[in-house]
Amino acid sequence: MVSAVVGANWGDEGKGKITDMLGEESDIIVRFQGGSNAGHTIVNDYGKFALHILPSGVFYDHTTSIIGNGVALNIPDLFDEIKGIVDRGVPMPKIKVSDRAQIVMPYHILFDQYEEERLAGKSFGSTKSGIAPFYSDKYGKTGIQVSELFDEDALREKVQGICEQKNVLLEHLYHKPVLDVEELMATLKEYRKMVEPYVCDVSAYLFEARQQGKNILLEGQLGSLKDPDHGIYPMVTSSSTLAGYGAVGAGVPPYEIKRIVTVVKAYSSAVGAGEFVSEIFGEEADELRRRGGDGGEYGATTGRPRRMGWFDAVASRYGCRVQGATEVALTVLDVLGYLDELPICVGYEIDGTITKDFPTTSQLKKAKPVYEVLPGWKTDIRGITEYDKLPENCRKYIEFIEKELGVPVKMISNGPGRHEIIHR
Ligand code: GDP
Repeated sequence: MVSAVVGANWGDEGKGKITDMLGEESDIIVRFQGGSNAGHTIVNDYGKFALHILPSGVFYDHTTSIIGNGVALNIPDLFDEIKGIVDRGVPMPKIKVSDRAQIVMPYHILFDQYEEERLAGKSFGSTKSGIAPFYSDKYGKTGIQVSELFDEDALREKVQGICEQKNVLLEHLYHKPVLDVEELMATLKEYRKMVEPYVCDVSAYLFEARQQGKNILLEGQLGSLKDPDHGIYPMVTSSSTLAGYGAVGAGVPPYEIKRIVTVVKAYSSAVGAGEFVSEIFGEEADELRRRGGDGGEYGATTGRPRRMGWFDAVASRYGCRVQGATEVALTVLDVLGYLDELPICVGYEIDGTITKDFPTTSQLKKAKPVYEVLPGWKTDIRGITEYDKLPENCRKYIEFIEKELGVPVKMISNGPGRHEIIHR
């Protein structure tokens, strides 16, 4: 069976933990989009890890971890990350890299920096890991596929073409040093050596695995609202964050994805710029940020403080719908135990009219939150393992959210650890 773990919000919903947990029953875990720009934080028996490009299955010895064709493959980052976990006592994971994955080049990272500099105050708040220039090249058909590393003559010709085009921009738009064909060829030769042992025809591998009845888990990065089509364009990421794209980015038939576990966070947080209707500020936000996640709400990759807000039922219901959620995992609920009251954003007021539908960005800019306020439970719920043992007001909060989402909340996460989960 093929399942997917994806986010309904702006990312950082705690997908890493849920994937790590579901990894116990999976044979294969596939990353299908994104790159090393975002991260998952995972707490397990080996310690606390921030993964950026490796799938969250790398801590199990029974799973194979796959970098699918949809991923922006940063080869040095991949190898640093493997080394980072092996150095801390994790057994060498079984890794496969799609021969159709494309490579993040050093110039993608430079272009990302140069463009942010050029845009100055009007920038998109990029993590500057080259993701947007990478995907622009992929769809502009000047990207480099892993498979292309193995034909040196054809590769040199391609690299010459790339330099010709990019050097015009470097010289005249950015006023920066130009690219050199031989230097890039040497880098690509290095990359070939690094990646060669792992290269795999992933869609064929997954086809066979399905015939053998293996459990395959697709792991998404970021969340619905960062999807380039269905999210808050243009403050989005450059590859689709939706389970539907899992079929493309891993190479499995869409109808095989039977279970779509959509991770929803019990409050809101977002990194970078963009519309965020239920955002809160000042001391109220600082306190939630300090108490949030596992040791505060700061970006796993960038360390940037996250923007904070109350639970947004309008955005989350939409987030679940575009994912095609078959079930919800509601996370970081334990964090909210300090609050007397919990506002939930149940509608958006736009030009005097209240809507429950998540609009396009131009309308979203005008939206003001309409809140319903629920009473708090004022206790620490960590350590509770049965739904019925949760305080009544906590159950009411969960059930209110479930009704708003219209999707069954089957898992409730009440702590960062692998087994801190309540099944329903
Ligand atoms: P991801 O990108 O969706 O995997 O999310 P992140 O890893 O960036 O953010 C989730 C953070 O919250 C991490 O630090 C997790 O260890 C932590 N976390 C996950 N689930 C829970 C939970 O139920 N309670 C608490 N307190 N922290 C959690």
